[in-house]
Amino acid sequence: LQHKYALELNLPAETIDGKRIHLYLNAGLLSSLASEIAEGSDGVGLYRTEIPFMLHQRFPSESEQIKVYKEVLDAASGRPVVMRTLDVGGDKPLSYFPINEENPFLGWRGIRLSLDHPELFLVQLRAMVHAGGEGEQLHILLPMVSSLDEIDQAKAYLEQAYFELKNDVNPNIVRPKLGIMLEVPALLYQLAEVARRVDFVSVGSNDLTQYLLAVDRNNPRVSTLYDCYHPGILRALKRARFDCWQYKLPVSVCGELAGEPIGVILLVAMGYDQLSMNQGSLAKINYLLRRVSHSDLSELLEMALTLTNGNEVRELVRCYFETRE
Ligand code: PEP
Ligand code: MG
Repeated sequence: LQHKYALELNLPAETIDGKRIHLYLNAGLLSSLASEIAEGSDGVGLYRTEIPFMLHQRFPSESEQIKVYKEVLDAASGRPVVMRTLDVGGDKPLSYFPINEENPFLGWRGIRLSLDHPELFLVQLRAMVHAGGEGEQLHILLPMVSSLDEIDQAKAYLEQAYFELKNDVNPNIVRPKLGIMLEVPALLYQLAEVARRVDFVSVGSNDLTQYLLAVDRNNPRVSTLYDCYHPGILRALKRARFDCWQYKLPVSVCGELAGEPIGVILLVAMGYDQLSMNQGSLAKINYLLRRVSHSDLSELLEMALTLTNGNEVRELVRCYFETRE
């Protein structure tokens, strides 16, 4: 079956009625990145920098980081790469930077930690900008943003990093586009203000679901409650897509939902046209999209939004798949 999907991987992900959907990769490890990107993605939609940090025994130096980021950009051979600044804390521990908290998912994680440690944050931003050089490929993404102030502070650090490199290293260095992860619910209601501050957003549906439903994404006791297809989550995603469109803010989805056939159908119906997923999903999602009609999907979505729970939503989309086979 995988073979059947793979045959079309180099053809664009375009629906029967001509809607082009851009498919990107989620990555964190360098190994095999080159061949993954070569196989039919439009670029890297989420490069999780915490992964190379986890492979070290201490914080990697600026030059060590430059090397890694350059390799990632080279592997993408000209295609865009969205590089996320360090997202440790919560479920992502760093052995050499232990954080002990009673409530880690609501604690010191992502951008909060970076802003409290400007010496680490600036090194990472400088390394990214340095690696990006004079090209337009690099996009920087901030994780776990929960307030506009955090965006403003992070932008000031990026500005500092950019001017330092422009003065000291290369006068033609490019200031990369900046975006934030949409994964803290409050920001869904501030998209007008977000749009005035950043170039793009990426919906982290994994954390967004966890915070909207108040369900730990890794706790097996409540795993049946952790459901990205909960109609309330779907309404939030639809609304986010609408607001981003309204405020002309480019938006992608990079949570697991964007790599699942049912999720993709619903997201595309909402109007999302940039999806970032693990390499294992890419061929299948491409194959699927080439066989659906975008205009057929809105009715399906409207129906899904009125259902009671995630199981009913999944069942509805499965029935849609079956009637088409
Ligand atoms: C997310 O939260 O949906 C996401 C993509 O980020 P991570 O899974 O790395 O927290
Ligand atoms: Mg997340």
